[in-house]
Amino acid sequence: MGHQIVMPNNNPLADIKPLNSWLKLAESGIGIIAGPCSAENEEQVLSCARDLAKNKNVGAFRTGIWKPRTRPEGFEGAGEIALRWLDQAKKETGLPYCIEVASARHTEIALKHHADMLWLGARTTVNPFLVQEIADVLKGTDIPVLVKNPVNPDLELWIGSLERLYKSGLTKLAAIHRGFSFYRKGPYRNSPMWELPIELKSRFPNLPILTDPSHIAGSRSLLKEISQKAINLEMDGLMIEVHPNPGIALTDKNQQVTPEAFAQLLEELVLRKRIGDKEFEIKLEQLRSEIDKLDSELIHILARRMQIIDEIGNYKKVNNITILQLDRWREIASNRVAQAENMGLSREFITTLLNIVHDESIKRQETILGNSNSKPGDTEL
Ligand code: PEP
Ligand code: MN
Repeated sequence: MGHQIVMPNNNPLADIKPLNSWLKLAESGIGIIAGPCSAENEEQVLSCARDLAKNKNVGAFRTGIWKPRTRPEGFEGAGEIALRWLDQAKKETGLPYCIEVASARHTEIALKHHADMLWLGARTTVNPFLVQEIADVLKGTDIPVLVKNPVNPDLELWIGSLERLYKSGLTKLAAIHRGFSFYRKGPYRNSPMWELPIELKSRFPNLPILTDPSHIAGSRSLLKEISQKAINLEMDGLMIEVHPNPGIALTDKNQQVTPEAFAQLLEELVLRKRIGDKEFEIKLEQLRSEIDKLDSELIHILARRMQIIDEIGNYKKVNNITILQLDRWREIASNRVAQAENMGLSREFITTLLNIVHDESIKRQETILGNSNSKPGDTEL
């Protein structure tokens, strides 16, 4: 069964305009936005814009002039003055520019300077108050706005922000997938959780989604694999951080690339659309996220089982009962094996698994009962 895109009857974002109506697409048909994490000074902005304008694949220049910093010591952006540098860069290169706004005040300033496009950052999308204030300021304009996913993996919050802007009359909207904060440290700065943008795409097939591999990766070395994956999953574009000299960048220096490395990266991506691959990738991703969920359930179940084991241990202690209840264990083991075999699991696999769980349970009860000389065959139940 292939992946089916079902158009909802009452798509609340039905009139969103296609990406190519407001962003010049690359030859391959995807939209590419590139530029430094932060606008640092006039020379850096101009030099980067000049280099990027030579690359015909780039549709817009991106940079941050107000930077959300985790700690107050960080560089918080050049502020309004940077809009002059951006105007200058646009005049010289013809590249439209896109900046982040995170408050009503930022938005007013951006509109006053006729910014070409705006984006909402991950820390703004999480906050419906801020998003609403920004949407109110934007009412009556038709400026393109790109909405990054919220920091936490909450699809409804992401959709909600897009809806707030849409209700203000904005139709040049796109989503940016920049990954999600996750308690488990993986290879990425922000876990991509591809199932979320896939779900967004299947609910709103007309909503363009760009992937931001820079903020997902957190390091240059992962940019290519993430960008390729985005293309394979038929995302509509990429937003990539490019800095003339990443080593001395004031923000996000590990993930930025030089204009040359960026051009090379685009060259290396396999941009051809291969019919069949998309379905395969989407299916694979859905199955993988299913596995992630099941593993997490498995861990919860094991943790719950051990809690109950502890309760039984305490109960035995209070009532002065030994751990050993051999008949009960034999009966359990044979029931479980029969059930598992019925469900297509091998006898060897289920026996090994049960023994590991059983051993761990015994150990826990020994700790509770203060008894470390139980024999094999002792049961925890
Ligand atoms: C950025 O694009 O530089 C940025 C701050 O992004 P995010 O909101 O995704 O962290
Ligand atoms: Mn950044």
